[in-house]
Amino acid sequence: MEEPLCQRLFSEFSDASGRTLQENLDALGQTGGAYLGLILFTDGSDRLPCKAGGALAFTTPGSRVVYVCTRAFKSLADRYPVRAEVSVIHEALHTLGLGENPPSPAEITRTVLARCG
Ligand SMILES: [Zn+2]
Repeated sequence: MEEPLCQRLFSEFSDASGRTLQENLDALGQTGGAYLGLILFTDGSDRLPCKAGGALAFTTPGSRVVYVCTRAFKSLADRYPVRAEVSVIHEALHTLGLGENPPSPAEITRTVLARCG
């Protein structure tokens, strides 16, 4: 996440108040890579988005807790490690305040893949 191109993500996306995610990182005094260490990744297998299928992980904008659909995530990570990493970065953007629709989940993932993949 320390590559300059990947770091650009934080300036390209904003939270609901219009602050860039980079401003939110700066306010925390963190780099993108170091910030990942502040996120709590926990098993979300017993929660609806995981039970419903199709999700790898989920969170709410601004929350530091990311629920991981462990079985689906592990299966993806075993086959496509880069895509698994991209989904972690996707959720990390949400924890910094990025909402969704707009931008669509696919657009977020596409941009993360283009910058960090
Ligand atoms: Zn998302």
